[in-house]
Amino acid sequence: MFTENVLDNQVAIITGGGTGLGNRIARTFAAHGARIVITSRSQEHLDEGEKQILPFTDQVLKVVCDVREPEQVKALRDKVLETYGQIDILVNNAAGNFLYPAEKLPLKGWKAVIDIVLNGSFYCSQILGNVMIEQKRGQIVNILATYAWTGGPGTIHSASAKAGVLAMTRTLAVEWARYGIRVNAVAPGPFDTEGARVRLWPTDEIRQRLIDDIPLQRFADPQEVANAVLYLVSPYATYITGECLTIDGGAWLGKGIGRAVEILDDIEKIREATKKNR
Ligand code: NAP
Repeated sequence: MFTENVLDNQVAIITGGGTGLGNRIARTFAAHGARIVITSRSQEHLDEGEKQILPFTDQVLKVVCDVREPEQVKALRDKVLETYGQIDILVNNAAGNFLYPAEKLPLKGWKAVIDIVLNGSFYCSQILGNVMIEQKRGQIVNILATYAWTGGPGTIHSASAKAGVLAMTRTLAVEWARYGIRVNAVAPGPFDTEGARVRLWPTDEIRQRLIDDIPLQRFADPQEVANAVLYLVSPYATYITGECLTIDGGAWLGKGIGRAVEILDDIEKIREATKKNR
């Protein structure tokens, strides 16, 4: 579907692009011709992430930037403009998450996640979006999670922040359409990354319980999520704005589907048995 050069000459900033999904998005964009900027708080994450991207492009701009600090986001903007002279795509991917019962969540944990996900996404959108407004073109994709609208036990901080970013997506889509800027989101269900494995499904048994509730009966491959992000920023999606594309194997529609399917099987067995006894 996609030609190799579908993002030729586009400058794409991916926050949290050193690791996990952010790095996969960066590789995917690079393979389609984009000039890549990755950001992270850690130089080590950036250096490791760059190695993964370099097979697809000859240059990666790495910028240490904590998205919670507007001054650092402004320095990121200046560095990108000095290097490339334009900013075409922003992916707000940086996040923090850990599971905790709401009644016990330390307030500094609440604040940390809200700061990264909600405040960080806004600082990046406003500061980098102003460049897009001047250019009269640009695109933003926000990485959400389906618990932004379903809620999710243990994720009060992240769910609240992602719900805010969903509202931000729709608000900016309407407000900035007049500047030629499209703003969309993707909401993945669970996929394996080192960070998620350690914090969200530390045992195989917990992982399997999560899979049992997914109609497609598996986690996403991060590449499937990256492909959806590529689609949203591609010329194939030029009339899409304010949308949130869910990539979760049907999980949020089929909450409890594992059990529902078992019940269906049992009812089928009863029906078959009744037929035989007639
Ligand atoms: P990950 O590898 O832990 O990625 C998070 C990234 O955010 C890291 O590279 C981290 O780098 C960066 N980051 C954290 N705080 C930051 C800050 N203050 N400033 C700048 N960068 C910061 O996790 P992932 O699983 O790939 O998650 C990527 C995105 O997908 C997140 O938005 C997450 O909520 C979403 N998501 C994940 C899943 C899943 O199952 N994995 C499901 C649904 C949605 P540094 O630590 O170096 O700063």
